[in-house]
Amino acid sequence: MFKNFKSVTKCAYGRGSFAKLGEIIAPHRNTGEGYMLFLVDDYFQDKPLLQQLPLEANDAVELVYCGGEEPKTSQIDEIRDRYLATKGLPAGVIGIGGGSAMDLAKALSLMFTNEGSSVQYQGLNLVKKAGIYHAGVPTISGTGAEVSMTAVLTGPTKKLGLKCDWTVFDQIVLDPELTASVPRNPWFYTGMDCYIHCIESMTGRLKNTFSEAYGYKALDLCREVYLGDKSGQTPENDEKLMVASYFGGLSLTYSEVGVCHALSYGLSYVFGTRHGIANCIVFNQLADYYPEGVAEFKEMVRYHDIFIPQHLSKDWKPEEVEKMIDISWALTHMWNHAIGEDWQQRISRDTLRELFMRM
Ligand code: ZN
Repeated sequence: MFKNFKSVTKCAYGRGSFAKLGEIIAPHRNTGEGYMLFLVDDYFQDKPLLQQLPLEANDAVELVYCGGEEPKTSQIDEIRDRYLATKGLPAGVIGIGGGSAMDLAKALSLMFTNEGSSVQYQGLNLVKKAGIYHAGVPTISGTGAEVSMTAVLTGPTKKLGLKCDWTVFDQIVLDPELTASVPRNPWFYTGMDCYIHCIESMTGRLKNTFSEAYGYKALDLCREVYLGDKSGQTPENDEKLMVASYFGGLSLTYSEVGVCHALSYGLSYVFGTRHGIANCIVFNQLADYYPEGVAEFKEMVRYHDIFIPQHLSKDWKPEEVEKMIDISWALTHMWNHAIGEDWQQRISRDTLRELFMRM
């Protein structure tokens, strides 16, 4: 395997580092029409964070709905077209929120300089030009979106990322204080995204020492958070989970995700299920593929008494199941890694159907 990975250019970490955001972005305000576009998860619309944004006169704040489904290509195109028509090209985009808000910011940065619809750029290295300056500020830990070179988008026919070197953030600000008020269920589901990234990246054909070094550390931190102090969301655990998320992202960057992500993409595509909980629904049924990881996951679920939806498939229509299989089956890079290059000889659409029907 050969990878040549573009890292996040600058990373600020620590309690209170969000207060430095104004200072951090100041040198990047002199391009385009000189304004910054803050994309903020609308979860914060009545929260104090909005008053803490380092806004200057011409800046714009766009509250983005991230509570339901994953970001859509149409949403990116609409925001881009609206700002270009009314305010012109921003100097930069600052994404503040969970994985969806950060992926929206990454995708928008690219789409401000690349013409046409974002649909045509879904895939690897299809983007033609570098985007504008973009920074990410996670407010929930686990997605790894702060470090990844992918902006995952749902389009008319597929759920697939805009993936290239230019997707990667120019700046991230990791302030564990921002995650202190995350509600309990998202805290668990999204943290498990990190846990599953590590299990999948470290189990499969592409695993390697680089990926394992970050993965082992991230798994240790997840265990301390989810199997340690029963209260879970302590300031110390907020710090651990934020670093685990970043390390988990690095672990998978040098390897690949596997069976859980392939299936959960299908589930999210058809039902709009959010990534974290979709992964939990799927992973709960994957003991055949990841026995130790699934056993430990179940232990964490029990320890924190978290509800993982089950028995969903009884309400699914056959065509919905077939669509999920279509979406999952097309993620060849994940199956290649998880099952092997001969994966099409070793699993079939029936295998996937049987797994979906367990959910
Ligand atoms: Zn994930």
